[in-house]
Amino acid sequence: MAALLCKVAKAVGVRGCRRLSQLAELPETHHMLRQTCRDFAERELMPLAARLDKEHTYPAQQISELGALGVMAMEIPEELGGAGMDYLAYSVAVEEISRGCASTGVVVSVNNSLYLGPILKFGSEDQKQKWIPPFTDGQRVGCFALSEPGNGSDAGAASTTAHQDGDDWVLNGTKAWITNSWDASAVVVFATTDKKLKHKGISAFLVPMPHPGLSLGKKEDKLGIRASSTANIILEDCRIPSDNMLGPRGAGFKIAMQTLDSGRIGIAAQALGIAQASLDCAADYAHKRCAFGSPIGKLQAIQFKLADMALAIESARLLTWKAAILRDAAKPFTKEAAMAKLSASEAATFCAHQAIQVLGGMGYVSDMPAERHYRDARITEIYEGTSEIQRLVIAGQLLKDYGA
Ligand SMILES: Cc1cc2nc3c(=O)[nH]c(=O)nc-3n(C[C@H](O)[C@H](O)[C@H](O)COP(=O)(O)OP(=O)(O)OC[C@H]3O[C@@H](n4cnc5c(N)ncnc54)[C@H](O)[C@@H]3O)c2cc1C
Repeated sequence: MAALLCKVAKAVGVRGCRRLSQLAELPETHHMLRQTCRDFAERELMPLAARLDKEHTYPAQQISELGALGVMAMEIPEELGGAGMDYLAYSVAVEEISRGCASTGVVVSVNNSLYLGPILKFGSEDQKQKWIPPFTDGQRVGCFALSEPGNGSDAGAASTTAHQDGDDWVLNGTKAWITNSWDASAVVVFATTDKKLKHKGISAFLVPMPHPGLSLGKKEDKLGIRASSTANIILEDCRIPSDNMLGPRGAGFKIAMQTLDSGRIGIAAQALGIAQASLDCAADYAHKRCAFGSPIGKLQAIQFKLADMALAIESARLLTWKAAILRDAAKPFTKEAAMAKLSASEAATFCAHQAIQVLGGMGYVSDMPAERHYRDARITEIYEGTSEIQRLVIAGQLLKDYGA
């Protein structure tokens, strides 16, 4: 599996270090990948996205095909079943997939960044062998359970507990809003092993799904990304072997925060895909729709909207690529990932809003994709850290830099 991307990576040498000055143009490998994902999205996702959204259907067939392409495990080395590519490649792929279907985009993003990502970075050799390969080919997906009903932004206040009993850990609590939960075969769960230590007492655990003591809440009836499942994960005396702790005891908060730094690049890419799809739809309509005797695209008021949309997308895309390139070069990227997510998610909501305006009445009904983009865009300003939290992250890093 992952054959195509592996071949491309080998042929062109994907892991070469790039200079930020090369941001304006993608390397050849990534350009080819972009075209492959774009073709896939136009052929397999765009025609289906409205129905998947309406019927809340998990795109099992499409995820399996993306697995065969290598897109479900972009950064995972080939020996573990992945495509062995870098984060720039990942961000390009998620953008193109999300342009076709934002729900499929988030399924891809969560499996790559939030499930496989922390296991690759913090897992032991045995954990990598056990928990990664089955999740690379699109037959199985994973999920990431940090948020709880009582705390989302304040993730350090986790109330889910893990206590040791013999050779086992026993988990109790409820994790909220878990993407992929109804379709997942494993979850990375964050639980407190020592309440007194607050966020330093949180640890991460790998739990198979289904598993005794783990149950799912109702599928949330969401505004957008309706083809991806979101639900509570309820843990009631859920017993797992001690080997299932990911990383050292007490390292869970650090694992979660570092995972989210990377994940934000994926969500920025998802938002870019939604923003681009909104612009595509608006520009196409501006050519075709006539008012007062000529296409509305001839009206300056409409041209300005298209120009502002393109500007927002292009700026956010450069920030997203920059964050990915920094990460690939093993440089600090926390601030840039937050900037990318903030600007891309605001670009997505702005562009989706403007697209509806350009389409007029046709923007407001589900015959056209603009209303779906509008609904899908909104979540990108909320999950993996709200826009307010991104601003706090950016300001925190800035003040650190100025204080140094
Ligand atoms: C569809 C969906 C999918 C999700 N998927 C996952 C998942 O897979 N895994 C997972 O763990 N979680 C997931 N989440 C949870 C998501 O990450 C949280 O909803 C998000 O972090 C916000 O937390 P909250 O909803 O508790 O809002 P709160 O933290 O209660 O925030 C409410 C408001 O207060 C603001 N606020 C809070 N603290 C501050 C502050 N210090 N300064 C300024 N403003 C602040 C927020 O920005 C927001 O506007 C998902 C959520 C949704 C809706």
